[in-house]
Amino acid sequence: MNLRLDKLQVFDSHCHPQFPQYNQDREEMLARAEDADISMVCVGTNLEMSQKAVELAEKHENIWASVGLHPNDFGELFEGDKISPQKTDAFLHLVNNKKVVAIGEIGLDYYRTPDKEHQKKQKEIFEFFINLAYQNQKPLIIHGRDSQTGSGGKAHGDIIEILNSAKNILYGGVAHSFTGSIDEAKKYLDLGFYLGFNGIITFTGQYDEVIKHTPLENILLETDAPYLTPEPYRGQRNEPAFVIEVAKKIAAIKNGYLKKITEQTTQNCKNLFHI
Ligand SMILES: [Zn+2]
Repeated sequence: MNLRLDKLQVFDSHCHPQFPQYNQDREEMLARAEDADISMVCVGTNLEMSQKAVELAEKHENIWASVGLHPNDFGELFEGDKISPQKTDAFLHLVNNKKVVAIGEIGLDYYRTPDKEHQKKQKEIFEFFINLAYQNQKPLIIHGRDSQTGSGGKAHGDIIEILNSAKNILYGGVAHSFTGSIDEAKKYLDLGFYLGFNGIITFTGQYDEVIKHTPLENILLETDAPYLTPEPYRGQRNEPAFVIEVAKKIAAIKNGYLKKITEQTTQNCKNLFHI
């Protein structure tokens, strides 16, 4: 019997195939993913990248889109000290597209934004998008990154606090590229959220314990391509076809069969994103 491991159905829950890194060979790169039976959510990071995500999703059966503003791009929606309704209008319009399955990536990034005033603006934008998700009954794709020193604040702690205060209006979500503690993981799981893991787990053992503590029913695979390339491709540009390497590492950590890992995480994506 010829076992075709490369033909397992796999879902890359978070990637950016619309980014300029693929301008020279986007269709070839997407063909490699399609040949390997990989479906994906193309995640928006600002208005232009959300529009491009929707365009790609309309063109490809195995691609869905999300619409959002990365916390480091918070300035895009501000006019002076206020969120500009003219600027948010374009986002409201995009969410209506039927291939848009989530709002994100949104959240708090204290790593690149240690300034407290800017963090306040990130929170306002985050709350705006939580409301947008509620109005459209969509799950959230959360980006959280703590400051380097600790004195800049704990992004995950603040995110969890905001999510808890919005608990009654949430339609679920995922903490993407999860690199928090076991305690933070538990708090996301208590909210009914999923945790997304990517290539980071293939080159450090730092998250093995968190993964062991997280039920497979709450895990999503992702690449975050073009970034965070997994072993054995480190040093190259990342792409959705490499998501299988993340699945293999989770299978190793959880001592489980690869097929079970890919099947369950694909089902998790379908459940969360209503695909
Ligand atoms: Zn991303």
